Amino acid sequence: TPDVRPLVAGNWKMNGTRESLSEIKAMAQGVLQPLSERVEALICPPATLLYVATALATDSPLQIGAQDCHAKQSGAHTGDISAEMIADCFGTYVIVGHSERRQDHRETDAVVRAKAQAAHEAGLAAIVCVGETADQRDAYETLEVLKRQIFGSLPDDSTADDTVVAYEPVWAIGTGLTPTAADVAVAHAFMRAELVERFGEEGRRMRILYGGSVKPSNAAELMAIENVDGALIGGASLKAADFLAIYGVY
Ligand code: PEP
Repeated sequence: TPDVRPLVAGNWKMNGTRESLSEIKAMAQGVLQPLSERVEALICPPATLLYVATALATDSPLQIGAQDCHAKQSGAHTGDISAEMIADCFGTYVIVGHSERRQDHRETDAVVRAKAQAAHEAGLAAIVCVGETADQRDAYETLEVLKRQIFGSLPDDSTADDTVVAYEPVWAIGTGLTPTAADVAVAHAFMRAELVERFGEEGRRMRILYGGSVKPSNAAELMAIENVDGALIGGASLKAADFLAIYGVY
């Protein structure tokens, strides 16, 4: 997309102990100018590693984010973390509405929207995940699902600076399967039109990431598709070599 700085983001999910901090250190050292001025890099480790990870990345353009936040700032919500806590650890992004959260924790579009709102209020950018299941795809409901999730999960005052959309077909996550380039192009063009209709000029600049089995071998093809403004990477973001190889396709 013209005038947009792509984002290459890694989601470690429930993986990573202190031992894995060496990978974050290598990523921080590998994300360098001048590429970092043109393409943003982000890694989202588990919350337990957040604070140390941001400390390791202080002198690097590598951004550090979290994988989820609660919609409230604080209170009686055992086990949850708030957007303010993420900002307090110097995190700059938070993923909300990942399909694993929508499935495992029954998060609805309304819950995801409230979380994105909380992220914005804490000064974080939200990466809002959307995507159809295999059944929905088989029933030709993909675009309908994307429309519903985009309208339901994004706050009304979202801007291109505080909101990123990640298109992750659920059936492509962790499976090694990816949609065809043509299917990705159709989905992303549809989402772009929806974002422009709702947010005007901001929607034109809002980044739309592709996620689902992105790896070094397919990243160049996927990232070259129109309206694909970066990647959300699961498995291939655990190792610095793979993550930096994907980042390096730009
Ligand atoms: C993800 O969970 O965001 C993801 C895209 O996972 P993977 O790259 O492993 O398919």
